[in-house]
Amino acid sequence: MEERKMKFGTKAIHAGVQPDEATGAIMTPIYQTSTYVQPEVGVNKGYEYSRTQNPTRHALEKNIAAIENGNFGACFGSGLAAIDCILKMLNPGDEVVSTNDLYGGTYRIFRTIFEKYGIKFHFVGMENADKIGDYCNENTQLIWVETPTNPLMNIIDIVAASKVAKQYKAWLAVDNTFATPYLQNPLDLGADIVMHSVTKYLGGHSDVVMGALVCNDETIAKEIYRIQNSSGAVTAPMDSFLVLRGIKTLHIRMQRHCENGEKIAQFLANHPRIDKVYWPGFETHPNHEIAKSQMRGFGGMISFTFIGNKMEDALNMLKKVEVFALAESLGGVESLIGHPVKMTHAAIPKEEREKSGIVDSLIRLSVGIEDVDDLIADLEQALK
Ligand SMILES: *Cc1c(COP(=O)(O)O)cnc(C)c1O
Repeated sequence: MEERKMKFGTKAIHAGVQPDEATGAIMTPIYQTSTYVQPEVGVNKGYEYSRTQNPTRHALEKNIAAIENGNFGACFGSGLAAIDCILKMLNPGDEVVSTNDLYGGTYRIFRTIFEKYGIKFHFVGMENADKIGDYCNENTQLIWVETPTNPLMNIIDIVAASKVAKQYKAWLAVDNTFATPYLQNPLDLGADIVMHSVTKYLGGHSDVVMGALVCNDETIAKEIYRIQNSSGAVTAPMDSFLVLRGIKTLHIRMQRHCENGEKIAQFLANHPRIDKVYWPGFETHPNHEIAKSQMRGFGGMISFTFIGNKMEDALNMLKKVEVFALAESLGGVESLIGHPVKMTHAAIPKEEREKSGIVDSLIRLSVGIEDVDDLIADLEQALK
């Protein structure tokens, strides 16, 4: 069956992988090798050196490209290494328009690494995508969108952002880590590059750090592969194997993340101590209609604040949870809880944080796939 025609669950399991030719092994072998024997000079089987290409990584790159409906995939040693690759496609003098509510590490690489190479960053609220154009000019080379955003679950209209990008001949890159390809495919909505922190839902088991890029355009793909090989931030064969295995259950895991997420969002919204609950599935979410049009579900990432907005209330709750684990990261089978101000978003200055709503009592949940009754009971006792 042609991979393009497969439905999501079939692609997740079969795309990019074939039984091993030598033995018939159904699982892609872990090609733990740095080099490949060449029968004579200039003759090889497509593999010369594992920084450039490795069969296990190659299978994973094809698999991730397929589930994102893209032609080309590339995997990196972390999500940030993938972002680093995109930024290295830019030149001094280029400008980037980025959403202002974004992963703290993305903000840090923009400001503390690439600014000094002459790239200018604008951080803009993109909930109203028409505004993006106000910050673009002939130097704009990249529009950076994260949707849903981290940690406030803002939704950015990818189709509208892609129109602005085309108008300015800029690339639109979408960080699709929170939604995953199961819920959202940015390339189908006009994005030029999709980025993943594979560490999160794609890996899904909190055992690998990895990043990925997917695109359709061959010119962009060539640049990505050139930088992947030249900078060398590649991912290892063993990790590639683990993620291939993780993705085989992505659709099943995401179904449960979405179901549990909905029940927990509702529980929090009805709790007397909780003020705001950020989750794109609520009809009251300002961009709920856009979420419905570009996503197939609303996921298991939820943030909320306490009435009175006291940091103490948030920190007390973090001490009391028993099933939810206090940790950075997200997207694994187990539920995690975190405090963005003190943890993931500590790199963002206070004024900038508060402008975008990342306040002292904000808590972020990555709802896992445990039994939801246990998760709710845990939150209930921790909120007493
Ligand atoms: C974790 C994360 C990243 C960075 O990925 P790493 O794999 O940790 O380098 C980027 N964007 C988002 C939305 C993330 O959650």
